[in-house]
Amino acid sequence: MKSLLSSSEIAKYKETLSGLAMSQIKTNHLDCPAGTDTKQRLYLKQTHEGILAYCHHCGKGGFLRTSREPSRLETLLAEKVGEASKVKGNPFVGPTTQFKEWPTEPKLWWLSHELNEEDANTYGVTWHPDSHRLLLPSCILVQGRGFYGRLPKYLTYHKPLEERGPYISVSLFDGGSTCVFVVEDLVSAYKIHKCGGNVLSLTGTKFTDAHLNMCAIFERVVLWTDDDPAGIVGSAAMYKALSGLCEVITFRSTLEPKETELETLKTIVERYNA
Ligand SMILES: [Zn+2]
Repeated sequence: MKSLLSSSEIAKYKETLSGLAMSQIKTNHLDCPAGTDTKQRLYLKQTHEGILAYCHHCGKGGFLRTSREPSRLETLLAEKVGEASKVKGNPFVGPTTQFKEWPTEPKLWWLSHELNEEDANTYGVTWHPDSHRLLLPSCILVQGRGFYGRLPKYLTYHKPLEERGPYISVSLFDGGSTCVFVVEDLVSAYKIHKCGGNVLSLTGTKFTDAHLNMCAIFERVVLWTDDDPAGIVGSAAMYKALSGLCEVITFRSTLEPKETELETLKTIVERYNA
């Protein structure tokens, strides 16, 4: 992960940020690998969950979690303002850009999940300047995550049948393991796949017969839904539908897979893959 700033590196600026009323500053990047920075090219932003950092000189970015437990309620309230919304016509026509040309906010958001440029290319994630959305693709749909105040936060476009991949749902299967993780959102799916896991993203909590058929080919299914009422109810329904067909494990965490540190996630994936 060459493009990441480590937590300890970002921690050096913690003091600077906490003393200010502004949640966003620019400062010189100390020991910038691209050469001495005198033009304040390190961009720092204090968010509810931690500090986002991105250097416009060396191109490194990263995230330091300062709150161990982000307030679930606050997150939910923020996200309720027009949650995922489905659209008929494709709102994502026109040019898209690759990681290097993404604006700062989506770039930081992506990096904050410990995903990098290579991952963006692997999963086909691009920036759509016209809609100010980061396009998160799966084989059947494209989800546009809005930035710079664009609402709803997620706009989902289902591809017409002829443009769909071979799968009914979002699935990243590597083979090798007989275990599959079932998660809600796409970024969580990308992250689990990056850690070596087979994964199925519901892009929601609705579990259909198609999902059931896909899970049934695995010996072990790990259900990792969000720790909220919808996630808990969804997970219980899936458990019921799958038990008897394969080993079903309900994984409980206050953090979503995408919020879980990569190292921890790797350990979890390895444990269930074994
Ligand atoms: Zn730098």
